[in-house]
Amino acid sequence: MTRYISTRNKEDSLSAHEAVIAGLAKDGGLYTPESIDVKVPVEEILNDSYQECAAKIIRALLDDYTEEEIHDCVYGAYDSKFDTEKIVPLKQIRGGWLMELWHGPTSAFKDIALTILPRLLTAAYKKENRNDIVSILTATSGDTGKAALSGFADVPHTAITVFYPEIGVSPIQKKQMATSRGDNVEVIAVKGNFDDCQRMVKEAVSSKEVLDACYGVTISSANSINIGRLVPQIVYYYYSYAQLVNNGTIDCGDPVNFVVPTGNFGDILAGYLAKQIGLPVRKLICASNSNNVLTDFLATGVYSLDRRFLTTMSPSMDILISSNLERLLFMLSGNNDIKVSAMMDSLKAKGSYRIDDVMLKKIRETFSGYWTNEEQCALTIHDLFVEQNVLIDPHTAVGVSAMERYQKETGDYTPAVVLSTASPYKFCRDVYFSITGEKKDDDFEAMDALEKLSGVKVPANLAELKDMKVRFTRSIEKEDGLHVIAERMRGLGNAQN
Ligand SMILES: *Cc1c(COP(=O)(O)O)cnc(C)c1O
Repeated sequence: MTRYISTRNKEDSLSAHEAVIAGLAKDGGLYTPESIDVKVPVEEILNDSYQECAAKIIRALLDDYTEEEIHDCVYGAYDSKFDTEKIVPLKQIRGGWLMELWHGPTSAFKDIALTILPRLLTAAYKKENRNDIVSILTATSGDTGKAALSGFADVPHTAITVFYPEIGVSPIQKKQMATSRGDNVEVIAVKGNFDDCQRMVKEAVSSKEVLDACYGVTISSANSINIGRLVPQIVYYYYSYAQLVNNGTIDCGDPVNFVVPTGNFGDILAGYLAKQIGLPVRKLICASNSNNVLTDFLATGVYSLDRRFLTTMSPSMDILISSNLERLLFMLSGNNDIKVSAMMDSLKAKGSYRIDDVMLKKIRETFSGYWTNEEQCALTIHDLFVEQNVLIDPHTAVGVSAMERYQKETGDYTPAVVLSTASPYKFCRDVYFSITGEKKDDDFEAMDALEKLSGVKVPANLAELKDMKVRFTRSIEKEDGLHVIAERMRGLGNAQN
């Protein structure tokens, strides 16, 4: 059985389903596999459907769920909610492939994990015969929020509260969240940035005020700090690899590079875990926007918050504190919880930490970092459309641009897969402007215009947004976060009694 241990205290050790319920460790650490002993040979999944592949990989890591439980979770999640049978189709572009991760119910890659997480959580609850309510606290830079709200809407024994930065998310993202359905959902805007939202959620699990208010309520998280979200993301690395074998691009066993538009380091860490369990991955290219803290980290070994937080047209990557990097540091230091705690303390107290040269060298064996400014991002969207007739969103463009520069600088033309993380229609004003140079004031006007221009159909969930009623308008100061959470916990506890 795989044990999941906190990156800040190895003694805090849970089974897989317990870690899914807990989300974040009490000490602020992230549950991480104590050791990765399982291997999933890629030969074994070559002919699998997405669901078959998912069942094998998820069960290999979340190994205290039964085969039947995982089967039900997988087939419940990956069904006609996705608008393509492949779930994550590949599309060829010059220099590599796009892996389209946005065919789910909210048109964001977050759907892949957040359609299954509520099921894994409910299954975990059944195993424990528990009756209390799990309150899912979620910080979002835009996409996680809606995907989590959609995944958890009216799921028994759960309630979900989403915090998003009032300024930064795209108007479509905001409308998606504010119109959410479900009796157990709540959406709150925060006068701050994503890091403020994430901090509130992280502090809540150890806040006395909040814990005192949790009567009959357990707090968990739908952020990629939850291991139940990270593991399902390993699947598409395998599945896309199989597609490349099956379409004759590579032979089974050949290495592949993946380029990952990165914010919280969750998606790319799933790629690292895929490599750990046996997928032939050569490089993981970490693509950032102008919030290029990770690019600098990979270049220097210093993680420093001494920089301005920028809002960009790829808002889901406007993040300065990349939580899941902590898991990588833990694994690469040989599970050194003391060292990781010291680094995280230093980040909190001084706004920076440094890793030693040995660790930096190890990280660089697998990871490379590139960042893309706004101008280059817009140009990439433009060029891909005009030259190759492929419509991409700004996050994907950051990835494509990183791939192009990586290939040119290193000469490494190993088959490359860029993770395409959102539908271009979630960011239609910026995409339309990048292609035509014409500004639209209204997002839905831009949506129509982009559809006419490209001939690519608007996903149904986005097309219907225009006429939907806004349900949530609350906005709070970031200093009030813990009070608001405590108040919500009291409300949930009372409702239950
Ligand atoms: C969340 C998100 C990312 C970044 O993923 P992380 O796991 O946070 O690194 C990139 N693109 C889009 C569109 C996203 O929603």
